[in-house]
Amino acid sequence: MATRAEHFDVVIVGSGFGGSVMAWRLAEAGLRVCVLERGKAYPPGSFPRSPHDMRRNFWDPSKGMHGLFNLWSFQGLGGVVSAGLGGGSLIYANVLLRKDEKTFIHEDLHDGGYEDWPVTRADLETHYDAVERMMRVQRYPLEHPPYSSTAKTLAMKLAAERLGRARDWQLPPLAVTFGNPGEVPVPGEPIRGEPENLHHRTRTTCHLCGECDIGCNTGSKNTLDYTYLSAAKRAGAELRTRAEVTELWPAEGGGYVVRYLDHTDTPEDVPREGPQSMLPRSTVTADRLVLAAGTFGTPFLLLKNQRNFPGLSGQLGTRFCGNGDLLGFMRQCHDSSTGKQLPRILEGGHGPVITSALHFRGREEGGTGRGYYIEDAGYPEFVNWLYEGAHQVPLVQRGLRLAWRLLRGWTGLTRDSDVSEEIAELLGDCLGSATSLPLLGMGRDLPSGHMRLTEDGMLNIDWRMSGSREYFDEVRHSMADIARTLEGKLVQNPLSYLSRVITVHPLGGCPMGRGPETGVVDATGEAFGHPGLYVVDGAMMPGPTGPNPSLTIAALADRFADALIDSHRRATRGRAWRAPEEGPWPSAPPM
Ligand SMILES: Cc1cc2nc3c(=O)[nH]c(=O)nc-3n(C[C@H](O)[C@H](O)[C@H](O)COP(=O)(O)OP(=O)(O)OC[C@H]3O[C@@H](n4cnc5c(N)ncnc54)[C@H](O)[C@@H]3O)c2cc1C
Ligand code: SF4
Repeated sequence: MATRAEHFDVVIVGSGFGGSVMAWRLAEAGLRVCVLERGKAYPPGSFPRSPHDMRRNFWDPSKGMHGLFNLWSFQGLGGVVSAGLGGGSLIYANVLLRKDEKTFIHEDLHDGGYEDWPVTRADLETHYDAVERMMRVQRYPLEHPPYSSTAKTLAMKLAAERLGRARDWQLPPLAVTFGNPGEVPVPGEPIRGEPENLHHRTRTTCHLCGECDIGCNTGSKNTLDYTYLSAAKRAGAELRTRAEVTELWPAEGGGYVVRYLDHTDTPEDVPREGPQSMLPRSTVTADRLVLAAGTFGTPFLLLKNQRNFPGLSGQLGTRFCGNGDLLGFMRQCHDSSTGKQLPRILEGGHGPVITSALHFRGREEGGTGRGYYIEDAGYPEFVNWLYEGAHQVPLVQRGLRLAWRLLRGWTGLTRDSDVSEEIAELLGDCLGSATSLPLLGMGRDLPSGHMRLTEDGMLNIDWRMSGSREYFDEVRHSMADIARTLEGKLVQNPLSYLSRVITVHPLGGCPMGRGPETGVVDATGEAFGHPGLYVVDGAMMPGPTGPNPSLTIAALADRFADALIDSHRRATRGRAWRAPEEGPWPSAPPM
């Protein structure tokens, strides 16, 4: 039996950094592109904030949840990724740093080595430039008020100076609009002079609310939906949301077939009844298939569909790592510069989540170990309220004092009717939250993890913190040094004592390599053994990037797009342009 399927030059699965860059580059070059994204679109103001809405803001359609956060838990680590139009950019912290030149290293993988990058920094330089332009990066404008008084940024700068590392400290490029081009930055003013975005909404400059990791409700983050995906749509790409791809297979006669669950009319908050196969499904076909479903999504899809891809390299699932992510917390920081030990105010809830980065160079760059970055990891302001509210005993004591004071007023025992001071006292000094700041470390842990399917078809990752023990110890020591220079204490993420980390930067699983014996895809992202099948997301990394990976994922995507466009033009030379068409395709993968 055959169903009718729409046909495109390229189908792209996933709309994160890899998928969005490909979507725009290919659509702009005149290819017929369809993007299938499982999550929803999030226009300004649509990111949930209330506890009730947050409770439902997770991704698990079988339980009726179609929200933004997709959390994974494996034996040695947990992971956080996103589901939505724009992928991880919706919840990321906006840092776009380039991978350091000397870390594109070549080790012998057959002789105990871990990384062999088939591309160099020089190969990526123009692509980095192109992505930075498109993402409209700006640095945190620390030279202008009110930004100049951002306590956490100034504290990190001071710590770098006190550690003798001032030259390794920077305000990294951020994909956030702080000010209109050529104007002095001002929080909360309309962003002008942009082409219309796909949400058809006006954005405003950054309000410094610290909510970047739960979605920016003012559109101040230059997320992929406002940049690449809006441009892709203008160039004719078709963007389908709530389209969860489940099956893939090579089509007879060339190209690929992609089947997806269409969640468009699926009610939310209603757990699925019956098997997934009963849900409405659609099929599209394409000459080329780009998998950009992220580091958990793409290897998972390929592992589930592996029997349809007999030519795939045996390296599928290998070289996984969490880009060395490690979270630490500085507490009770002080400032003795005046001779008196005063609390050092850090106010982690003020400003975008990350404003600064301190680089600890690795061996290749004249330092020690494998190298890493430590960044200030701010958070939404309401977290401070939760923190202060959680300290019940002092709060109850202060509450009782206030009640006693009010009672005296109501019963005429005091004539002073101004209770402002007492109400302020109810809040306490709030120094617990004000003098604390999370730190996010990341760098070059060993890509020694392995992704596999469990017997019941779930994703499993075998990754151990112990494999990179020295690296993690070094990051911990440097965090403790930063806390010490700010006269505070470092508290480790309690999970790390259980040899577990939480990564927000998962990488690997479909690594680039020089041949199928070392990689799943080549240096243009095309799969060995399956021409026309591409992996363009964090899964293609043959090792950790070191700094935050999104810019490198996007730059590689920009480079892969050149190769794909060339290959498409060679294959279609002389063929007339065709509108998206419908044609008969097999309704099931080959048995
Ligand atoms: C809290 C947080 C902060 C971060 N901060 C930074 C930062 O400051 N800088 C930085 O560089 N990186 C940061 N990251 C990491 C960054 O978000 C990721 O590295 C990046 O998004 C990965 O891009 P990608 O192209 O691999 O895939 P993703 O961006 O993860 O996109 C994959 C997309 O595929 C979709 N998808 C998955 N499976 C399917 C399917 N079966 N069918 C259809 N669609 C599917 C997903 O919904 C998603 O939209 C952060 C991450 C988090 C969680
Ligand atoms: S700090 Fe607030 S306004 Fe600024 S980019 Fe982050 S979420 Fe948006």
